[in-house]
Amino acid sequence: MSEAHSPWKLGTYWYDKESVSLMQVKEAGIACIELNLDNDILPEEALTPAMRTRYQQAVDAAGKAGIEIWSVHLPFGNPWDISAFNDAERMAIIEAHTHVMDWARDWGAQVVVIHPSFEPIPDEQREQRLKLAAASVRELSERAHARGLKLAVEDLPRSCLGRDSAEIAALISSAPHAVVCCDTNHLLTEKPEEFIRSIGSRIGTLHISDYDGVDERHWIPGRGIVNWPEVLQALMDSGYGGPFMFEANYKDPHDLVQCYQGLMKLVSDARAP
Ligand SMILES: [Zn+2]
Repeated sequence: MSEAHSPWKLGTYWYDKESVSLMQVKEAGIACIELNLDNDILPEEALTPAMRTRYQQAVDAAGKAGIEIWSVHLPFGNPWDISAFNDAERMAIIEAHTHVMDWARDWGAQVVVIHPSFEPIPDEQREQRLKLAAASVRELSERAHARGLKLAVEDLPRSCLGRDSAEIAALISSAPHAVVCCDTNHLLTEKPEEFIRSIGSRIGTLHISDYDGVDERHWIPGRGIVNWPEVLQALMDSGYGGPFMFEANYKDPHDLVQCYQGLMKLVSDARAP
């Protein structure tokens, strides 16, 4: 299959503390990135002018390399948990995410990815925490919309909120501007192709990687149990038009490009008469 028929542009997560440069990413043939920020630090440490300057350097380097910043992954960890029980705390967390969304808008991103919770979520709290997270998603998705961004709610593993399509559907049900980030290696009770078919056109971005079905692994596709022809077909059927965004551990970005070409060949072979 020629590249002209490839339905999606190629993207990868990128974090400035890893060793691959944006020039290397671009030269390998990757068009866009999801910019990752420091996680698990307090908002007052994360939102300083020095941190902004650091990220701005990455954004400038992307511009120089000709790479699009498609998305920004909002920070996660306890201090960023939008399902926090205490209302004043939850409101402060919404403000902190809004601050990062202002940055993302200035960086030209189209999407901001958010985790519906941190972990663990005790069973007896689950229902209430889902309601709190849904309220936060509603508020943050409106704020994102006002900034020309789409808030993408990501499916998560283990006891985290949003661990299957039913929970994700509940989290976005009162947030018409919210979309979904489908992470193909986070679903432990549902196949990713089932998740994609259930969420359908609300999928707004992707985290593509493979796993063993036991826990998240962030392997390059092909190493694990994901049925890639099914996943790709489900994405095509849902009309997904964003980038094919990898969130897989890699050393050489050429490995991602090669992987993508192999996946596209699987699709064209499946369609061949
Ligand atoms: Zn994530």
